[in-house]
Amino acid sequence: MQVFRFSQARSIDAAAHSGGTFIAGGTTLVDLMKLNVLQPQSVVDINGLPLDRVETLPNGGLRIGALVRNSDLANHEAVRKNYAVLSEALLSGASPQLRNMATTGGNLLQKTRCYYYRDVNYPCNKRQPGSGCAALDGFNRIHAVLGGSDHCVATHPSDMAVAMMALEATVHTQGAKGERAIALDEFYLVPGNTPDRENVLAPGELITHVTLPALASGTRSCYLKLRDRQQYEFALASSAIVLTVRGGQIQRARVAFGGVATRPWRSREAEEALEGQPPTPATFRRAADAAMANARPLKYNAFKIELAKRALVRTLQQTTEAA
Ligand code: SF4
Repeated sequence: MQVFRFSQARSIDAAAHSGGTFIAGGTTLVDLMKLNVLQPQSVVDINGLPLDRVETLPNGGLRIGALVRNSDLANHEAVRKNYAVLSEALLSGASPQLRNMATTGGNLLQKTRCYYYRDVNYPCNKRQPGSGCAALDGFNRIHAVLGGSDHCVATHPSDMAVAMMALEATVHTQGAKGERAIALDEFYLVPGNTPDRENVLAPGELITHVTLPALASGTRSCYLKLRDRQQYEFALASSAIVLTVRGGQIQRARVAFGGVATRPWRSREAEEALEGQPPTPATFRRAADAAMANARPLKYNAFKIELAKRALVRTLQQTTEAA
């Protein structure tokens, strides 16, 4: 395997035409290469590209370079002040050492923690299309209750992406056909019958940066992650909330879940149940029930449905108590 380091344009060309993949922090890719799960023909090292800045935009939003490290982003003054949900999500992920290496672009593209995906002795449609899914009849406690199919029920592992989903982020890319701006809600794919396709990126298409819109004055946000242990663990259920309350009513709500779905999961059902309502426990529970109305449990993960509901209710309580 060859490792290349080029300019941005040549990096894209090299990855598109050599069957290669980009490497930045390497916190996902290197692990999976060691396990023989991923075996790219070549690796294009993008760490030298000028994509490592966080900038406030003239419209009050934020531009986050794809190579900004998770720890730098979590602790950036503008993120802590205006996008608390993002800072909290980042700090809930992995370990300090990993956050110092992991990048914004790489975090969006994290691979699932499904144990069968990561063990080449088991069939896995995501790793080897058409081979089957060991999780469907296996130990599927960590798997998805939303967005799954008969071909894959793996959860998306990112915390950061869940917060960005609630913040209505936009992913900006550069590829062989030019630049694109993709709403994060349209970036991820559900598995359907092609679980090996996880997003809309074309071969060699590079994430260059992410933008966040400015939030209305008085907007509050919060991230809650529930897991088997408090540190260095992936979510069983997590909830990201961006909420504006005025005059005793929830004026605007954005809700996303992690740990329970095959992609970072925005819940428009919960948002509709919240908007125009008073911020009361009854409203919160109705929103939680609406969010999970279409959940489909597997043999070992039915507990996630109630867990996700409680995560949402708790996150809403925390967000409104702070108002
Ligand atoms: Fe593979 Fe998806 Fe099945 Fe896990 S759930 S074994 S990733 S196909």
